[in-house]
Amino acid sequence: MEKEFPSGYASGLKLSANIQWNMLAKPMQEEWEALKKSDKKALEGIKTPKGLLKAFQKPNPLDYRARKRHKAVTGSPNCDAYATKLKARMETLSKRDAVYYEDGKRPISAFAKAEMDLRHEEQLRKLDALRKRGYKYCWLSTHADCSDRCAPWQGKLVDINGRSSLPSFRMGFKKDGYEVYALQSIIDQVDAYGYKNNILVGFNCRHHLIPYHKGSVPPKRFSKRVMSEERAVNANLRAMEREIRATKRKSAMYNEFDGKTSLALAKKAEELTKAYKKYAMENGYEWHAYRLEA
Ligand SMILES: [Zn+2]
Repeated sequence: MEKEFPSGYASGLKLSANIQWNMLAKPMQEEWEALKKSDKKALEGIKTPKGLLKAFQKPNPLDYRARKRHKAVTGSPNCDAYATKLKARMETLSKRDAVYYEDGKRPISAFAKAEMDLRHEEQLRKLDALRKRGYKYCWLSTHADCSDRCAPWQGKLVDINGRSSLPSFRMGFKKDGYEVYALQSIIDQVDAYGYKNNILVGFNCRHHLIPYHKGSVPPKRFSKRVMSEERAVNANLRAMEREIRATKRKSAMYNEFDGKTSLALAKKAEELTKAYKKYAMENGYEWHAYRLEA
């Protein structure tokens, strides 16, 4: 089933709710046609690649037709080779999040795209709210597991409307002795892949703006050691989320022809989720359900 996000939410982005069978079967269609011709006898009563995979499962001893199909396909090296290929593709496909394509940009996972768009919209709303309340200067918040991308900017004082033509993005003046940087120029940088992947608006960024008042001090700073430890925890969490999403997708794909394996994978996803939540809690991180959706 295709799921389209409402406009404003990654507009125009279409996501497959499940990995579709035609993503598998279409590229293998020619081989399927060849197989149908070469092994007519083994494929008697089997109409689709899905049906072929199903025929490989242990048949119900009372179901004469299923037993006959099972015997035919398991005795055919051609059928076996095709089924093996199909499964290998399923394995690869399930590991990938659905992909988002846009002209002139490197394709990224639809998950990352949706996540970034949501963040972008939220940050723009917050910026607007700060402006309306009359703020001009803000601190960029700090956190210990800050990415390399954000590290140069966290803890800095910025002019939220500021633009600068200097490579350092300095505004060229200080406030309370603190150098002021141009936020608009910082967040408008485009990376080599065509994305504005910067502090506040970039992939997985958790920084925010803290309004500046006369006499306020920069947010807490962290040592390099603490930062690299926290970064490692964060990388582990992302890897765990990817594995959970992949396992769920695989379970959904298997559900089409092999309920037992599908169930085992669903259970595995549940266990992985438990471990993920525990790890997040032990390390003082929040976990998010949306990050686990396949
Ligand atoms: Zn950040």
